[in-house]
Amino acid sequence: MPYDFTGKVALVTGSSRGIGAGMVQAFDASGARCVVNYVPDSEGRNRADAETIAASLRDPLLIECDVSDPGQVEAMMHRIETECGGLDILVNNAGILRDRTIAKMSEEEWGSVLDVNLTGPFHCLRQALPILRPGARIVSLASVSGQLGLFGQANYAASKAGLIALTKVAARELARRQISVNAIAPGFIQTEMTRDLPVEVAERALVAVPVGRFGQIADVVNAALFLCSEDARYVTGQVLNVNGGYFM
Ligand code: NAP
Repeated sequence: MPYDFTGKVALVTGSSRGIGAGMVQAFDASGARCVVNYVPDSEGRNRADAETIAASLRDPLLIECDVSDPGQVEAMMHRIETECGGLDILVNNAGILRDRTIAKMSEEEWGSVLDVNLTGPFHCLRQALPILRPGARIVSLASVSGQLGLFGQANYAASKAGLIALTKVAARELARRQISVNAIAPGFIQTEMTRDLPVEVAERALVAVPVGRFGQIADVVNAALFLCSEDARYVTGQVLNVNGGYFM
C-alpha cells in the first residue's frame, strides 16, 4: 500500500462510476473510510451503480446528493459529521458535459454545466469548511479544456477554468488551517464521459498526445492519492496536469 489513509474520512463527489468510483476504491484500499455520492436518475441506474461501488468498499457511507443544490450539500455534510465525525479528504469530482458551439448553446446548457462543475465545488468547499479537520486535503477535477478552451466546450471549459481559480483562492484562504487545495487537470481519460467522442475527434486528439495513448482512470487516481498524502504537504494551489503531455 503506497499511501496510508487509515483513520481518514474521504468524500468523493460523483463516485458512482468513472474516475470517482476509481477514487473511492483506491482510498478505501489505502485505509480511508469513503463516502460514495451519486445523483439519482429516473431509471434508478445511478443509485444501482453507486450501490455496486459501495458494496466493494469496507465501511462506506452512501449519500444521494446533487452537488448543484446547496441544501442537499448542507445535508450531506451534516450526515458526514454525524456518522463519521468529520472530513479529511474532499475530492470535487462530479462533472457533466453538454458540448455545443457557442452559436447553438442554450442558456440551459450553459447554466447546468456551470451549476454542477463550478458552483457544485463551491457549495461543497464552503459547506465542508466547518467539518474539515486540520491537515485536510481538497482536490478538484479540472480539465485540460479549462486550460486550452477546446472547441464546442464554452460551458465546460469556462467551468473548469473557474474551478482552477477557485482552487487557488481556497488554497490561500485555507493555508492557515494547514488545509491544502489543489486541482488535477486530466487530458483524455477513458471513461463514459469520453466514450461517445466521434471517432475522428478521438483520432485527432490521440495524435496530439505525446505518450501515444489515452489516460486510464488509475492515472488520475494516482495523482489524487499523492495530493492527499503526507508527501504532498507543501503542495497547495497547484494544477497537476495528467494528460500524457497533451498540454505542457
Ligand atoms: P463520468 O464517468 O461521466 O462520471 C461523472 C460522475 O459525476 C458520475 O458519478 C455522476 O453521477 C456524477 N455527477 C454528475 N452530476 C452530478 C451532480 N449534480 N451531483 C453529484 N454527482 C454528479 O465522468 P468522469 O470521466 O469520471 O469524470 C470525472 C471528473 O473528471 C469530471 O469532473 C470531469 O469533468 C473530469 N474530467 C474527465 C476527463 C475525461 O476524459 N474523462 C477529462 C478531464 C476532466 P451519476 O452516475 O449519479 O450521474
